[in-house]
Amino acid sequence: MLIKSGRINLFFKSDVTLYILKGKNSDLLIDTGFIGVWNEMEKWLNEYNVKHVLLTHAHVDHDWNAARLQSMGVKILLSSADKDLRQNYLSQPVKPTAPRYRIRNLTQLAGGALVKSKRYTPDIYLSDNDRDFLKSLGYDAEIIPLPGHTYGSIGVLSNGVLYCGDAFTMLWHKPDVTPHAVSIPHMKKSLQTILEINPQWLACGHGLPVRMDKARPVIEQYLKTF
Ligand SMILES: [Zn+2]
Repeated sequence: MLIKSGRINLFFKSDVTLYILKGKNSDLLIDTGFIGVWNEMEKWLNEYNVKHVLLTHAHVDHDWNAARLQSMGVKILLSSADKDLRQNYLSQPVKPTAPRYRIRNLTQLAGGALVKSKRYTPDIYLSDNDRDFLKSLGYDAEIIPLPGHTYGSIGVLSNGVLYCGDAFTMLWHKPDVTPHAVSIPHMKKSLQTILEINPQWLACGHGLPVRMDKARPVIEQYLKTF
């Protein structure tokens, strides 16, 4: 599905969602899609001038096409805290974020260990001090550390939209807490950060963007319960 709204440029296929931020000199792709999306995704990318990719984290369904994009001259940005997570899913713990996700977590562990992205080395590793790095590349956007789903999970805040990767999810077509986390305390802190930022829209890595007023009660309920 291709959607171009006034504010959010997105590509959505097989429950994985990619976004493009337009910059002064070039465009920024947020995440790279998963297996089987390349041909359709490439058509979408051809409408833009993508020179940078920001990976919200180094899970296969986000970095699968990073190597291919890099071979076309696109620069890859990733948090340094996810450096060892590339091609090595089990290098960070994977815990269910609620009892209802315990069984799903086992299948996730097995699948994650088997499926590996093609090897790539990011051009730029980001640290927590690099919040304004995208501005130096001509993007009106701030990097927001959102650790919890992985240690190096990051989001991008621009024009009232928080592109949050898997810090929150619309995977099941309704706002929900992401089922797996490396650290539940870290994830809860990042959910608190999302509440404090209070963007108009949360643009998640799975499913379609959701208005914050729909996501807020779900986040508040989770923070109260767990
Ligand atoms: Zn993930």
